[in-house]
Amino acid sequence: MAKPVVAIVGRPNVGKSTLFNKLIGSRLSIVDDTPGVTRDRIYGDCEWLNHNFLLVDTGGIEPYSTDVILSQMRTQAEIAIETADVIILVTDLKCGVVASDMEVASMLQKSNKPIVLCVNKCDSIGAPDPEFYEFYNLGLGDPIAVSSVHGHGTGDLLDEVVKFFPEQEEEEVEDEEIINVAVIGKPNVGKSSLINRISGTDRAIVSNIAGTTRDTTDTYIENKYGKFNFIDTAGLRRKSRVNDSIEKYSIIRARMAVERANVCVIMIDATEGFTEQDSKVAGIAIEQGKACIIAVNKWDAVEKDGNTMKEFREKLSVDFSFMSYAPFIFISAKTGIRIDKLYEMIVHVHSQNSMRISTGKLNEVLGIATARVQPPTDKGKRLKIYYMTQASTRPPTFVFFVNNSELFHFSYQRYLENQIREIFGLDGTPVRFIVRERN
Ligand code: GDP
Ligand code: GDP
Repeated sequence: MAKPVVAIVGRPNVGKSTLFNKLIGSRLSIVDDTPGVTRDRIYGDCEWLNHNFLLVDTGGIEPYSTDVILSQMRTQAEIAIETADVIILVTDLKCGVVASDMEVASMLQKSNKPIVLCVNKCDSIGAPDPEFYEFYNLGLGDPIAVSSVHGHGTGDLLDEVVKFFPEQEEEEVEDEEIINVAVIGKPNVGKSSLINRISGTDRAIVSNIAGTTRDTTDTYIENKYGKFNFIDTAGLRRKSRVNDSIEKYSIIRARMAVERANVCVIMIDATEGFTEQDSKVAGIAIEQGKACIIAVNKWDAVEKDGNTMKEFREKLSVDFSFMSYAPFIFISAKTGIRIDKLYEMIVHVHSQNSMRISTGKLNEVLGIATARVQPPTDKGKRLKIYYMTQASTRPPTFVFFVNNSELFHFSYQRYLENQIREIFGLDGTPVRFIVRERN
């Protein structure tokens, strides 16, 4: 089950991003720590009363070509309606109710999505100012007084929000054999073309899962390679009203799909090469610890000589050095070239992401590796790694017990990661290290 999505909408300057930052806190994510990957701060994980959800700041999603506030707000509202389970409309106590608040409120109301009305900048504690009651006129029920700067009222706000979350359904019995695949990439790389090709050639079942307030349309495929569920990146088929050229919106859709996936096919456009947007998409997969394949699509449209693929591969290895574990495949959704191979790769990286390595074998490799390259020292003190073990899978996560975690530098961790990968493969999957001190 995907996490619920909560979107924040409202006029410029009412305090949307202040609220967003307050609710998200300032936790550093894995991606912030990965050189070469960029990230938009338009969504973040949030937790309240044992509910986990994804918070989206639609204010951060700027349509390309419009600076007219009203049309911008319309786009924001559309994005919220398309993606969110609950929408927070933020207004400003100091400005009172203005015409565009009314406009957006009525748009949101028509969507039948649950809406929570936040009156921001209620900085004083105690009885609300008389102006506060004006916000009842928006017809969205009880407004909640919040000060995003100080944090007052954010708890009341979240109490209201989580009330609207769909009931935690019984966890569906997962068929372990089915591999959930998310095809992600910037607009126009060919994601829907790939899904269409796949569903045209194999027995495909398009399933409507209406379990949540958000309908998704997945494509289920069974063939000689296995059972696959290609996750709808929301609106793949039913072209959304929201203009696809809004890149950041596509990032949110990708984020929602990746969460449900076992394997991510990161699609890039061979005719364009690597772009910053591709690194953002890849960052989502890294953050979620998913197995990955980099699929270079539109390979049919590239003029080739005997060296072209090799040259592409070398160039892309540099561009994607932040996920050097991910294999490349050169495909064409149009002609179908190497789609068979893509299935094989999906099965392979999925098995690698699920790999479990015995403690005995791990420590054998650790022993050899630390004998070959001595652990680092600092001020006469040497790192000692007593022992390692695998704590979990998907992604493979290893715990190291050491004398002093500060001595366990990134470069030595990288060395050990490479040694482990050399022996065990772990193709296409990130790995995680947890370092514990023990005396
Ligand atoms: P956005 O355009 O809706 O994302 O608004 P911002 O979050 O950028 O905030 C706009 C301005 O309002 C900034 O100067 C904030 O410091 C200020 N602001 C945001 N929240 C509050 C609040 O709770 N109280 C007060 N007094 N100012 C706030
Ligand atoms: P999406 O936005 O990622 O879903 O991209 P689409 O599947 O809508 O494709 C965008 C455009 O690229 C369309 O005009 C497709 O016909 C074209 N396209 C997709 N895959 C290929 C391919 O493998 N080769 C070529 N030459 N064009 C492709």
